[in-house]
Amino acid sequence: MLFTYTLRTERENFYNITSYVRQSIIESGVESGIAIVYCPHTTAGITINENADPDVVTDLLYALDKSFPDRPQFRHAEGNSAAHMKSSCIGSSQTVIIDDGRPLLGTWQGIYFTEFDGPRTRNFMVKIIKG
Ligand code: ZN
Repeated sequence: MLFTYTLRTERENFYNITSYVRQSIIESGVESGIAIVYCPHTTAGITINENADPDVVTDLLYALDKSFPDRPQFRHAEGNSAAHMKSSCIGSSQTVIIDDGRPLLGTWQGIYFTEFDGPRTRNFMVKIIKG
């Protein structure tokens, strides 16, 4: 089963989408399998990281900015090469094991949609595979 969700984003941020993934699993009725969480955009991504202390997200955004600053040498005419690099660094998808009808996440893990070139209207997909 495929679920598609829409998100309205700010310029740059992480959005905790764990509840959407949990809801997709419940609606699918799948007790055992995998959930693929996918982002179909080139300046955004999907990652799993800490859900407890919001300073972790703040630090991740800071570190990504320091790692991928905008450079005058960049050739991409749209002017958002740094956002493309952050997107490739984070990746476009995550796979989560479904066990007992729930995503097998650690206590401190959350699934995040990451925006690097907003504000935009974005989509992400959750594909539930039984197995
Ligand atoms: Zn671009």
